[in-house]
Amino acid sequence: MKKILLGMSTADLKLLAAELGEKEFRGKQVADWLYRHGCREISGMANLPVAFKSKLEAVYEIGRSQLQKNNMGKDGTFKLLLRPYYGELVETVGMPYDERFSCCVSTQIGCPVGCAFCATGSGGFKRNLAAGEMIDQVLTVAEVAIKEKLLAPDGRVSHVVFMGMGEPLLNYEATLAAVRLINHELKIGMRNITISTIGYVPGIYRLAADRLQLTLAVSLHAADDALRRKLVPGMSRYLLKDILSACQHYYSHTGRRVTFEYCLLKGVNDSQAEAASLASLLKGLNCHVNLIPFNEVLHSNFRCPEPAGVMAFRRVMEEAGITVTQREQRGAGIQAGCGQLRRQPGSG
Ligand code: SF4
Repeated sequence: MKKILLGMSTADLKLLAAELGEKEFRGKQVADWLYRHGCREISGMANLPVAFKSKLEAVYEIGRSQLQKNNMGKDGTFKLLLRPYYGELVETVGMPYDERFSCCVSTQIGCPVGCAFCATGSGGFKRNLAAGEMIDQVLTVAEVAIKEKLLAPDGRVSHVVFMGMGEPLLNYEATLAAVRLINHELKIGMRNITISTIGYVPGIYRLAADRLQLTLAVSLHAADDALRRKLVPGMSRYLLKDILSACQHYYSHTGRRVTFEYCLLKGVNDSQAEAASLASLLKGLNCHVNLIPFNEVLHSNFRCPEPAGVMAFRRVMEEAGITVTQREQRGAGIQAGCGQLRRQPGSG
């Protein structure tokens, strides 16, 4: 198999051009074709000399995925099933909002954490994705959004959330390489990039040391360790107090307020007593809480609370002084909501 260009930075590509006996600016031209024009074939890089393209083609492929299925929802949210260059299927989601367009990126095929309520985790873990395979998801979502007229012909993805299949901090190097490429090559501001973790404590400390201005979202899903162990068995070695200490450390190193995600599961973690416990756990932390009413998945025993239950939970937290938002249930009808991604060609 050939080597892959996607995932190399402009600096890497300049070095590559020099190694192949070309002027460095040719590397910049390759980067423009990859990241600005979304080029899928080396032969399509019109302003490169034929001899340089032949040298590249002898060793490299661009490495774009093949679109297997586009599942379009009524609210404009769409879920793409992609076959990456190295096989296996991966899902990514595009979400149009009034002023922005968001792409939800997968970082692993499957997930080793195995959360009780999550469709991705139920399928087990296959492999980590490379940075190029992550940036391919953003490029492909932009292509589809333009084709579907959800973005103008010169429009672009404005926000990236690493919240798709997998735990990003368990694939740290590739995820951070993708973050830097998305920032430098796709020109998406660091503050418009969010990494969501299920609470992998060593990864949070490592991210704090990198001092990036991205947004960290930490999924708690329970206000006590016993329940969290049941819902998130793959992270049971990390207690809530350890996760919150790591988040405090993250805030003090980056100055970035942490978002806590809490998936509301009817009759499991959605009582007003649990809201009060969660509020007292988070008291004094500079944070905000995003409530996510569960997106029901076929064959799952978990259910979504009634809207009144969600409101009551929210009220208890707000009365305790916690800033709370509630995630819109986008893409739920096409199984593209949080926790609903899995490699199913016929899903939705
Ligand atoms: S919720 Fe996230 S961490 Fe948990 S199994 Fe699903 S993808 Fe993995």
